[in-house]
Amino acid sequence: MNEITIAVAGAFGRMGQEVVRMVKEEPSFRLVALIDPKGKEGGEAPVYTGVVDALIEKRPDVLIDFTTPSSVFENARAALEMGVRPVVGTTGLKPDEINTLARLAGEGKVGAVIAPNFALGAVLMMRFAQMAAKYMPNVEILEFHHDQKLDAPSGTALKTAEMIQEVREERKQGNPQEEERLQGARGGYIDGFRIHSIRLPGYVAHQEVIFGKEGEILTIRHDSLSRTSFMEGVKIAVKKVIQLEELVYGLDRLLD
Ligand code: NAP
Repeated sequence: MNEITIAVAGAFGRMGQEVVRMVKEEPSFRLVALIDPKGKEGGEAPVYTGVVDALIEKRPDVLIDFTTPSSVFENARAALEMGVRPVVGTTGLKPDEINTLARLAGEGKVGAVIAPNFALGAVLMMRFAQMAAKYMPNVEILEFHHDQKLDAPSGTALKTAEMIQEVREERKQGNPQEEERLQGARGGYIDGFRIHSIRLPGYVAHQEVIFGKEGEILTIRHDSLSRTSFMEGVKIAVKKVIQLEELVYGLDRLLD
């Protein structure tokens, strides 16, 4: 296989640093640019303060983006418009932004991957939750992240909810007379079930999907204990995006 050239946006962030390490260690990848808004020094490749300049100058095959909810859309759009394939791990993209990126990818026949969770165990957790929801439709999602996370609920929780919605009829859970005495106490509402977001130092990324039925409780839990847990999925996405001519949402769609 030919070498894949890669630019990393958010290269000095928590995830970005891990991605840079992974790219350097993978023999078929070559790191050609790092993008950081403050132009931090000491990188493993030339540093650019903006995605557009980096892409114009280096013309990488792939842009890996682990930035912020407010910058990811413009970064991915710029990449697609220049024929560079984005692999996006940043969460917080709105549905209409994802639709716009999908349209751009399709029109330009440029591959793109957006995955709210690149950990293989998390992909399995979401699949198992979808299987369970068919038989146990009373469900709540609890997600736990470090306290520097910008978006809530997490992209993983929303993706899990979306997968559950595919197999579960909309139904309002709980007591119809339920009264929320403290706003937000029952969490975010989606199709009659709830998502609860916990933010505390110490956590990396964790999720529990709890199913209740008379006389039994099923809990499906995944824990990312370190950021290396996401790197195998990122590696798979980079290798697959080269062969794609459209946008794929979710790592599950790239696995056999
Ligand atoms: P972080 O530590 O805050 O890193 C974000 C980095 O992006 C910062 O260094 C920031 O620079 C930089 N940045 C901001 N705007 C930029 C732009 N326009 N171009 C290039 N870089 C820019 O955050 P993190 O913990 O690494 O998380 C990053 C994202 O990944 C979050 O959305 C998180 O939810 C997501 N995430 C996804 C997965 C997954 O598997 N898909 C796993 C974990 C995390 P400054 O600090 O100088 O502003």
